[in-house]
Amino acid sequence: MVSFLIPFESALGETRVSATPETVKKFLDLGCKVFFEKGAGKAAGFLDDTYMDAGAELVERENDEVKKIVDIVLCVQPPNEKFLSHLKPGSFLVGLLNPYGNKLLAETLKSKNISAIALELLPRISRAQSSDALSSQANIAGYKSVLLAASALDRYFPMLMTAAGTIQPSKIVVLGAGVAGLQAIATAKRLGAVVYVSDIREAVKEQVESLGARFIELPKIDETPSESGGYAKQVSDDFIVAQRKELAKQLSEADVAICTAQVPGKKAPKLIDEKMLDDMRPGSVVIDLAVLSGGNCACSKPGETIVREGVKIIGASNLPCSIPNHASSLYSRNLLSLLQPMFKEGKFLIDNDDELIAGSLISKDGVILKSEIIENGGTRS
Ligand code: NAD
Repeated sequence: MVSFLIPFESALGETRVSATPETVKKFLDLGCKVFFEKGAGKAAGFLDDTYMDAGAELVERENDEVKKIVDIVLCVQPPNEKFLSHLKPGSFLVGLLNPYGNKLLAETLKSKNISAIALELLPRISRAQSSDALSSQANIAGYKSVLLAASALDRYFPMLMTAAGTIQPSKIVVLGAGVAGLQAIATAKRLGAVVYVSDIREAVKEQVESLGARFIELPKIDETPSESGGYAKQVSDDFIVAQRKELAKQLSEADVAICTAQVPGKKAPKLIDEKMLDDMRPGSVVIDLAVLSGGNCACSKPGETIVREGVKIIGASNLPCSIPNHASSLYSRNLLSLLQPMFKEGKFLIDNDDELIAGSLISKDGVILKSEIIENGGTRS
């Protein structure tokens, strides 16, 4: 019988859990056994009793004996070295494993003969949509970034006609219109703001306009940005300089900037420099969702709010953790949807011929399969 372990997430500030009572039940229906570390769902609003009622076996957090027997560990963030050292050789780890340049993880997987899927590398094909954890979590980040901005801003978002006169709507600039950016646009529009958007992928303009936002045209220079698998490819420093020029005027008139521009495996493009911050009005707000990969905005720091000449710069590094109940529900369904098809006729099979598995499997029985990414931080294909 295939056994799962749902661990207590030990990373600082992590509030999500990798399985809910709903998905535990589904794994049991597949004939599996599920061990659940006590308290692992509490921060996300899922209590131990509900897992027990669903059929999971509750175990203590420090119970290393269980780690030695389980076949599959479902995690949100990569478990620490100590945790991994107890897993049995041949076991299988699935989660957001932060694979780019993660040599320490590679060494542990190798030495312990562990197979692992990094959800960040799942190919963005239609069949993968229900398993796409980057999307489910980025969607939350985009939504929450706008709520954070609205509560930090010294103005209303919508236009209001009051007895004391008319209030003009706030102007929001969204940088990067991927999953988080599109949700930020939709949320800001719902709150009544006027929204301007910059992105370097061609396909995005139409999506942005269909949400009622205005697209900021790309700089007119020789270089044409390209993309691969739905992702932007890195543009040159000259392009970024020209792009900053186009953005400067929009930002000087903006009340809020939501920064979501990223290139997988690379440093995030620095789209707002200090001079542009100088020109933003005191009281305006910048939310930098790209802060963990270097940030789109000068001066942003992970998890911190910096007030610079009256401009609030919020380094929003873990917004999905601020909505842990829904973040966990969606994440755990992503995992279920990925793993369910791997059970065939009662047997669990890691099928490297499957495009989804091949794209995201970083280690098979300890052999590192994505050395370009995991050892050198190279970009995904
Ligand atoms: P991401 O987080 O890597 O990047 C966010 C956005 O930043 C992207 O839209 C990118 O073009 C943009 N960007 C990069 N450099 C920029 C710059 N210099 N200036 C402005 N913007 C810049 O990407 P993501 O949000 O995870 O996904 C990107 C796209 O992938 C989605 O919009 C969608 O088209 C596609 N996608 C497809 C599927 C699927 O088919 N299964 C699932 C999810 C996403």
